[in-house]
Amino acid sequence: MGNDQKQRIAVIGGGIAGLTAAYRLAKQGYRVSLWERGNRLGGQAAAFEVAGGASLEYFYHHLFQSDREIAALIEELGIGDKLVWLPSNVGYFADCKAYPFNGALDLLKLPIIPIHDRIRLGAVTFYLQRVKNWKKFESVTAEKWLKRALGERAYSRTLGAQIDAKFGRYASEIAMVWFWGKIWLRTTSRRSPLDQERLGYIKGSFNTLIDALHDGLLKSGVDVHIGEGPSALNQRDGGWELAFDGRDPEAADAVVVTTPSPILARLVPDLPVDYMAKLQGLQYEAAAVALLELDRPLTDIYWLNIADRDMPFTGVIEHTNFMPSSEYGGKHYVYLSKYLEPDHPYFTMPQEELLEEYIPYIQRLNPAFDRSWISNWWIFRERAAQPIVGLHYSERIPDHRTPKPGLYLANTSQIYPEDRGTNYSVRLGNQIAEIVSDDLGVR
Ligand SMILES: Cc1cc2nc3c(=O)[nH]c(=O)nc-3n(C[C@H](O)[C@H](O)[C@H](O)COP(=O)(O)OP(=O)(O)OC[C@H]3O[C@@H](n4cnc5c(N)ncnc54)[C@H](O)[C@@H]3O)c2cc1C
Repeated sequence: MGNDQKQRIAVIGGGIAGLTAAYRLAKQGYRVSLWERGNRLGGQAAAFEVAGGASLEYFYHHLFQSDREIAALIEELGIGDKLVWLPSNVGYFADCKAYPFNGALDLLKLPIIPIHDRIRLGAVTFYLQRVKNWKKFESVTAEKWLKRALGERAYSRTLGAQIDAKFGRYASEIAMVWFWGKIWLRTTSRRSPLDQERLGYIKGSFNTLIDALHDGLLKSGVDVHIGEGPSALNQRDGGWELAFDGRDPEAADAVVVTTPSPILARLVPDLPVDYMAKLQGLQYEAAAVALLELDRPLTDIYWLNIADRDMPFTGVIEHTNFMPSSEYGGKHYVYLSKYLEPDHPYFTMPQEELLEEYIPYIQRLNPAFDRSWISNWWIFRERAAQPIVGLHYSERIPDHRTPKPGLYLANTSQIYPEDRGTNYSVRLGNQIAEIVSDDLGVR
């Protein structure tokens, strides 16, 4: 088939899912265009330039050893040597003190709950690591199941604090499946509970993968449009028309949307009511992350979960305790992370004010900390950071094939029972490409 006769597929969204989908579809011989509204590719996984000409993610990122789809894609793109597996170092901050939290032995020593609670917590974790049939966890909330299994005190001091930190006002609605998925992921990142966990990172940042995908798209003839996204998708002549503000429309035989669900609802407002209800029924937690560039380390921990409820952030991720600071011209990078509802003041607060709010609490992590250690800082926010996984979520997921022929959806809200992550966006991209080519082949 000549290039002008090939079927045209438009992919909306240039995050990991959209890039992977476009790459696969182009490899299958379709004429593909990719539309990314932002001023860069990579979506939530993108990175920007920091000290020493190095790149660092806007939002902290690592991989688990169970992340096989993304590892396979990295290999396929010829950048397998950039994927490194490094020991992680996790801590737990409670009662103004950081405790190591790297496995069963650390758990047994965790003094914030009595020893019988620690044993119970260990036993519950051990049990969850072995559960394969997650379906039974669809109809019970994590709060209910875990409170029963652990008791109120152990729950609210440990796992409950983490669930509250991630889901805020939605915490008591989260299904046990979500928590099971988290435990399962971490289990597969170490060989035995006594082993140190290893996490993956892409040398040069996740931009190494994003750039390799971008190169792959260009080599396969994909039209990559950065800084341009459709304002509406209209059915035309058995296919689709992408309408833009201030640009001529584009035609496509099929459209793959990889943006958050509410954006599809806006792009195609006449979708049938049932499907629309699914799109609009999905909720997401937002995230506000402060990234500090320091002239020295803040702590000696990579990933510090914050259990003290009066702290304004709930995770401290010191990236340079994972990748060495020598990669970043000797600077140290610390993310202060908070998941929140979009009406939370931190989501819209001026950046300087948010930093001022955080500063006194940074001293709790290291009393020697002085603001003169900060050589640079940034605040990043993401609206659709984490889908809210409520009860019977499997019944609420919109299909990849929308009710309108030739219109497809592949986004983080459809990742289940696993928690969203770059690996699963690669899987989504792979899957949607297969679905589209199955359908177009039949046509
Ligand atoms: C704080 C934080 C930490 C994270 N940590 C990790 C981690 O450690 N490991 C991990 O694997 N994952 C992590 N993730 C999750 C991971 O980054 C995401 O799940 C994944 O990148 C989502 O990719 P996606 O392509 O599905 O969606 P997105 O990255 O959201 O991409 C969607 C794209 O669509 C674009 N778009 C929106 N509207 C339009 C429009 N109208 N037209 C055109 N384009 C449009 C957006 O600009 C965006 O680029 C983290 C996420 C956050 C927020």
